[in-house]
Amino acid sequence: MHSLDPTDENVLQRGSGAGVDVWRRRGFLSAAATLAATCSPVLQALTETPQILGGTGYPGRSVFQGDRDYERWRQAMAWQLYKAPRYPEVIVRPNHREEVAGVVKKCAAEGRRIAVKSGGHNVSEAFLRDGGLLLDLGELQHLELSSDGSSAWVEPALWSYELLRGLDEADKAFPVSHCATVPMGGFLMGGGIGYNHDNWGAIGCENIIAAEVVLPGGDSHIVSSEENPDLLWALKGGGMGFPGVVTRLNIALHPKPKSVMETALIFPIGHLDLAIELLNDWARANPADTELMMLLASNPMATDDTPPQARKMAIARAVTYTASDSASRAQLEQLVNHPNAVHTVAPIEFKSTSLQKMSIESVNPKMGLGFGRYAVDTIWTDRLHDMTDSLNQQISQAPSNKTHFVISPKMNKNVSEDCAFSRIGSTFVGAYTVWDDESEDGRNFDWLSKTRSALHPFSEGQYINEVDAFTNPGAPQQCFSSSAWTRLHETRRRFDPSELFYGWPDTGHG
Ligand SMILES: Cc1cc2nc3c(=O)[nH]c(=O)nc-3n(C[C@H](O)[C@H](O)[C@H](O)COP(=O)(O)OP(=O)(O)OC[C@H]3O[C@@H](n4cnc5c(N)ncnc54)[C@H](O)[C@@H]3O)c2cc1C
Repeated sequence: MHSLDPTDENVLQRGSGAGVDVWRRRGFLSAAATLAATCSPVLQALTETPQILGGTGYPGRSVFQGDRDYERWRQAMAWQLYKAPRYPEVIVRPNHREEVAGVVKKCAAEGRRIAVKSGGHNVSEAFLRDGGLLLDLGELQHLELSSDGSSAWVEPALWSYELLRGLDEADKAFPVSHCATVPMGGFLMGGGIGYNHDNWGAIGCENIIAAEVVLPGGDSHIVSSEENPDLLWALKGGGMGFPGVVTRLNIALHPKPKSVMETALIFPIGHLDLAIELLNDWARANPADTELMMLLASNPMATDDTPPQARKMAIARAVTYTASDSASRAQLEQLVNHPNAVHTVAPIEFKSTSLQKMSIESVNPKMGLGFGRYAVDTIWTDRLHDMTDSLNQQISQAPSNKTHFVISPKMNKNVSEDCAFSRIGSTFVGAYTVWDDESEDGRNFDWLSKTRSALHPFSEGQYINEVDAFTNPGAPQQCFSSSAWTRLHETRRRFDPSELFYGWPDTGHG
């Protein structure tokens, strides 16, 4: 059903879509070859494997540890190339959502614990556990719009891009992930910082109206503000500790903006302080219907002669979502008229775009920061300016030319109390290191660990969708207020007293 063919020239990658010619011209990281080499066997494993491998008795397709195809399947579960060394006893991939209840019932009867996966993008790879059953919801990609177009039922593995495509004709939009292949399930259950995130709810999960959930008893329940409201609260940003399987989400939609326009200002890293000042000033001015993001990354034009202060770049990117091109242009003019903009090193242009176009560009190997082995740490901070030196130092010591930071001011921090999502700061800072070769694992993990130490003194909290809960078991707690953390545990105990579903590692629920 996906019109993006990941075996073709698209690469499954973090798509910040820098939108700058200089990146495009150089084809910066021609990652298509990597994808073809790495993802094809994985996709093949899923398509070649027979419908039901003999006698497992689970609905859908399944494979047991020890079966010939087991390792190829296991590897296919994680989106990225680093596969955590944890080995489920069985992997089951239902063909449709009606089969999920049967899997849960059988597990409950056999006392087999369950880990759930929608798209497999989460850096924790918490769906990979030693033992138990991995329930792979990858086939659940259906989209159903309400007759008046105000809401939609989405299945958890529906890609961000496919949702945008499905909403286009109805002139509707949704704050989907900045990467086309991130699906709705994990993204919304872990919060969801999507396109236009300050204006379509403070955080994506606020748009969840209801859900269908299979609970440990094996029955499907509606979860809404009237029925099982505690579960609705928990699935709005509670992340990997949810005590059930979400088979469908009912989400509120937004009118599609008539004009989407972007611009990017490129600073050499030596002017990071000026770039941060510009970003902060603009965020303080609180421009309506605008999304701001800054990327720190390698300069693709750098040669051995390039001075250190120009080997990395800070790219401030703004996207407007308004009613007309003139309104968009007026917003962007304010940014480029900032006095610090004179220190940029590339021509500034305004480009009309669309949500779908940006989503496609996110998987364009010529534009993004690559696909590969991948490690992440994120914080919320109220002290971005004070972090300038640390950020400068860490990006300058990047172990890979795909290592990058994403910095995104959050102007709307009023997350509703109806959400488990409960820690947020003025700015999101994400450190991402991406590399190709296994032999570089140590160097990259080491860099991330040092970056963690450098950034965490400025932290107001972390983002559950982008913490590695196995490397840093204390991280999930940092993603929630203390009352939300307590309530999440109480909700788990109430709905899943026998711990059928795996929870956060090393918290007593793991
Ligand atoms: C390339 C890339 C780009 C990204 N871009 C963004 C972005 O723009 N904004 C942003 O906010 N985040 C972004 N992320 C982070 C992303 O939102 C999280 O990794 C998210 O968890 C991925 O969703 P998933 O369905 O693939 O989760 P999975 O990895 O499949 O699942 C993660 C965990 O969620 C739980 N879970 C998932 N589905 C279900 C279900 N149906 N029922 C019960 N429990 C479930 C399980 O505990 C599971 O272990 C990005 C990640 C990547 C790799």
